[in-house]
Order: sequence, then C-alpha cells, then structure tokens
Amino acid sequence: MKIAVFSTRNYDQQFLEQFNTGHELTFFTQSLSLQNIPLTQGFDALCLFVNDNADAQVLAKLEENGIKLILLRCAGFNNIDLFAAAETGIKVLRVPAYSPQAVAEHAMAMILTLNRKTHKAHNRTREGNFSLEGLMGFNLHSAKVALIGTGNIGKAFYNILVGFGCQIMAYDPYPDKELTAKGLQYGTLEQVISGADIVSLHCPLLEDNHHMINTTTLQLFKKGAMLINTSRGGLINTPEVIAALKSGQLGYLGIDVYEQESKLFFADHSSEIMTDELIARLISFPNVLITSHQGFFTREAMEQIAQTTYANVDAFASGSALDNEVRE
Ligand code: NAD
Repeated sequence: MKIAVFSTRNYDQQFLEQFNTGHELTFFTQSLSLQNIPLTQGFDALCLFVNDNADAQVLAKLEENGIKLILLRCAGFNNIDLFAAAETGIKVLRVPAYSPQAVAEHAMAMILTLNRKTHKAHNRTREGNFSLEGLMGFNLHSAKVALIGTGNIGKAFYNILVGFGCQIMAYDPYPDKELTAKGLQYGTLEQVISGADIVSLHCPLLEDNHHMINTTTLQLFKKGAMLINTSRGGLINTPEVIAALKSGQLGYLGIDVYEQESKLFFADHSSEIMTDELIARLISFPNVLITSHQGFFTREAMEQIAQTTYANVDAFASGSALDNEVRE
C-alpha cells in the first residue's frame, strides 16, 4: 500500500524502513492538520502519531482524497474523531501495547529524579560543588503511591513499585483481577489520592476525565505530594496545577505530556522566544521535571511499534481480522 507517514523523525524512519513488509512509504516531518491535507493525495493510508490531528473536518477531506486506513503508531487515539472516522468508513488501527515497561520505567525515572535530585547533583559536582544542601529526598520504601489506571502501563508500574516496597492503592473503573489477587487494593479516585505521597496517572484521556487533576482534586492531595503524568496532558488542568505548586499544596510535578504539546514537543525550539506562558512558568519551578513525551522511547518499543504497524496494514490489505481496530 502507499502510505504517507506524518510527524516523522529520523528514528521513526529508521525503524519503519527496517521492518517494512513491502509497502511504499513517503515520510513527512509535518504533523497532519487541515492546512497540509494536500500532502495526503495519492495515498491509500496514513501513518500518524500522538500530535497528528484527525478531527471530523480533516477526516472528511481524507475521505475525498481516497484514504482508507489510518495506522496509529501509538496506543492513545484521543487525536482521532472516531465517530467521524466511522462515518467516512476510514478504518483506524493502533498499536495497543508497545513495551508498557518503557513508559512505566520512565515514570519511575521521573520519580527518582524529582525525589533524589540527581540532575542537580550531577550539575553541582561537575562544577566542583559537593554540598548536599537542598538535595534531601524521602524513602520510596513504604511511601504511599496512588496508581490511576491499571492497564498495560499501570500494571508494569505496579510491579516496579512493589520492587521498591511502596504501599500502593489504585483507582480504575475496571479493576484488574490479577492485581487484586496479588493484594492490590482499589478505591475511588478521591480515596486513593487522599494521603498519597505520589499520584501517578496511567489512564487514557477520555471526555469524562479531561482535567481530572484540578483545584478540587488537588485539595485532596497530601500537602507536598508528587504528581506524575506520563499519560496525556489533558488529564491535568495546568493553570490549576501551577497554582497548587505556587501554594506548596503540590510538592513536585513530573510531566512527560502537556496539553499544548503539539506546538512544542518533538522539535528543537531552543533558538526561539518561548511564547507559551504555561510551559515557561512550569520550567521556572525547581520542583518540576518536564520531558517531551519520551516515555515510550526505547529501542524495544520502537521495534514493537514498527512490527505491529506492519501487522496492522498487512491484515487490512489481506482482508484479515483487524485485531487492533479502534472504534467509538
Ligand atoms: P490501557 O488501555 O492498557 O490501560 C488503561 C487503563 O485505564 C484501563 O485499565 C482502563 O480501565 C483505565 N481507565 C480508563 N478510564 C479511567 C479513568 N477515568 N481513571 C482511571 N483509570 C481509567 O492503556 P496503557 O497502555 O496502560 O496506556 C495508558 C495511557 O498511557 C495511554 O492511554 C496513553 O495516553 C499513555 N501513553 C503514554 C506514552 C508516553 O510515551 N508517555 C506511551 C504510551 C501510552
């Protein structure tokens, strides 16, 4: 099939070329948007990532251009209007799980960095400063962790937390039997975030949980607790989180995702004036750690994304069952 790959970076091209099962790929660095629809002419399928926009307007144009298939090289599908896709008949296939360990390990890396401040210690010692002032952390052993979402990533993260000796409570509308059997206790969102030292988000962004972390839920946090978001930026109300950081109600914030990330992430803006006031404010806090959606970014995950993407397109091309189809 003729496939247009959007939001391509060198590493995407490398893995998609390595595992190609015989399709004709054209790589675009741009993200898909209404403005660059003409690029999609002459293709059968599009391969998209987290910040490509396939809303109803875009999908209507894609249908006109003869696009039959969208191959998401990610698990989340909040950037696709699935109702509109169904109306156009365009199939949407995704990579439901690609090394959940990668994201879970990144969440733990964020916790360890924020807690033990190894980034600051590294900078200090490089300048001959061996002082410990301001570097004190807390033991993760026995710390209370609220796990929000216990799917593939939440489960992998649970196992890491068990290894660290944390006390874990979880919230998920669909509790996992395997984890319950292992002794994990589930509660309501309010119950699990109250009193937790760390709250870590591992659920998809859906209409009903947009801004689930807001002034009201932040007031339930233990004062000075840590919030980690490796899921989707829209799960947290950023201005309200900033207010909680300013008041000290929130003690640490680690984010790998940001609601307005599509204008910033995956590109070098270091020689530009920063116009996004929210990210500029977040960067100014000493207790905030921001990474630009790199949780998934391991060699193993890139291999799995490429392999599943080709399994998806091959299933579509051969008329086989579409195991990884996403539908409203
Ligand atoms: P998954 O589908 O395996 O699990 C999601 C879990 O969240 C399910 O158990 C579901 O029941 C639960 N859930 C649904 N709504 C919820 C709510 N309101 N509150 C709490 N739990 C809820 O997904 P996954 O593979 O574990 O991925 C989780 C999320 O991580 C994805 O949706 C995506 O947004 C994000 N992600 C981020 C990266 C990254 O690089 N940072 C990479 C992959 C995925």
